[in-house]
Amino acid sequence: MARAVLITGGNRGEVRSLLDRAKELIEERIGAVTKASAHYESEPWGFEAEQRFWNQVLEVETALEPEELLTATQSIEAELGRDRIREGAEKAQSGQHYASRSMDVDILFYDERVLLTERLTLPHPRIAEREFVLRPLCEILPQKRHPESGATMEELLQRLTQQPAKISEPNKTR
Ligand code: AMP
Repeated sequence: MARAVLITGGNRGEVRSLLDRAKELIEERIGAVTKASAHYESEPWGFEAEQRFWNQVLEVETALEPEELLTATQSIEAELGRDRIREGAEKAQSGQHYASRSMDVDILFYDERVLLTERLTLPHPRIAEREFVLRPLCEILPQKRHPESGATMEELLQRLTQQPAKISEPNKTR
């Protein structure tokens, strides 16, 4: 069994119930969820959107290999209404690189695996620059070390925010 860390998130529709539904589908198709962060609300990252984002980080025990895991997360995204055609149109129209989405599921870590294939980069390449990823990660896995840099998640958050990595922000909601 491998231990994978996933982040679910979105900013369209009933996002928080979609996060719960994504967690159920992950349990059904990927494996047991061993740790789950709260739902975190954040500003849209990299583009302007009307609705705010919600995210959750999950640690999962899985028998799937990394690319099988990506296939499973993509099928969950598709089932929960992510519409890549609409996203493409929205990006083209706005000229922005990112677009609103109902559900996005990314693989942050897969054990300590470092991998670069056409479909998959592990660990996820933008963990260290995204506060909306590091905050929920620090809630459930503060001492987890990044397999490439060796830094803990707390250290990465501290470096990013230049503040003590104590989590007491008001927009964390169970
Ligand atoms: P995004 O639109 O940000 O969800 O990116 C989706 C694309 O990133 C897909 O084509 C995936 O094949 C690719 N990808 C590469 N590495 C990862 C990862 N660690 N988790 C999820 N998607 C990934």
